[in-house]
Amino acid sequence: MKIAIASGKGGTGKTTVAVNFAQVLAAAGQEVTLLDCDVEEPNVHLFLHPEFDSVSAVETTIPQVDEEKCTGCRVCAEVCEYHALAVLGKNVLVFPELCHACGACVRFCPEEAIVEIPREIGTIRKGRKGKIRLIEGRLNVGEVMSPAVIERVKKIGLDGKIGIIDAPPGTSCPVIAAVRDTDGVLLVTEPTPFGLYDLKLAVGMVRLLGIPCAVAINRSDLGEKELWRYCSDERIPIILEIPNDRRIAEAYSRGRTIIEELPEYREKFLQGWQALLESCSIA
Ligand code: SF4
Ligand code: SF4
Repeated sequence: MKIAIASGKGGTGKTTVAVNFAQVLAAAGQEVTLLDCDVEEPNVHLFLHPEFDSVSAVETTIPQVDEEKCTGCRVCAEVCEYHALAVLGKNVLVFPELCHACGACVRFCPEEAIVEIPREIGTIRKGRKGKIRLIEGRLNVGEVMSPAVIERVKKIGLDGKIGIIDAPPGTSCPVIAAVRDTDGVLLVTEPTPFGLYDLKLAVGMVRLLGIPCAVAINRSDLGEKELWRYCSDERIPIILEIPNDRRIAEAYSRGRTIIEELPEYREKFLQGWQALLESCSIA
């Protein structure tokens, strides 16, 4: 079972919801894997406080040109969709951060002058806290190829048991890499005009991918009712509402989760999880 927790807008409480779901399921005796795919700023560990037991590099490949063989024909630069190569005379310049490792330049070079060499772009950390296994992806500073790190996290962490993915915010390529091939997506939002606007974008993305979705509303007692009307009109189930409770903000500031500090929320999260599975037709 693979569930992604996403949000069109950052700062809506996506990570909070993901960690609290994992903790209530673990408390109920389930083995859970949390996959921190918010690789530009992974922060699940700040709330889970796991013991990390391994770190490994995530590598991609970049082209390396053999100057002896290169004739300066420019074919490689012409086939590169990402403008990661430039040919000046007989010199081929490679811009590693732009390379998507598609291999086109290697394939089309008429002189077979290009080989691929590995390049580290991020790391994977593995850890555990009780019944919760954490797989955390982290993109190196200055790198842009977050989908490659996200896909590696999913490859390692999704093993058929319960997998909860903390996706990056937004609706661009990294989010699509995180939510693709999941059984359901929970979109966390808040009842503000920005929250609603970004939710609509996120719903459009998820529907294009053909994945069922539901909504969780954070700070649900603030703002306007337009959000509820939208979800009703679009037949999107709201499976969880978290009020604007000062005690939650205080717990957050201490790196503690809602259910650790406020046990009365446990049942709410358990019921929310069940409603999420039912709304996404997951047994
Ligand atoms: S395609 Fe090959 S031979 Fe042509 S410029 Fe690029 S590296 Fe050189
Ligand atoms: S591997 Fe693909 S993206 Fe990278 S430089 Fe070659 S053609 Fe461009």
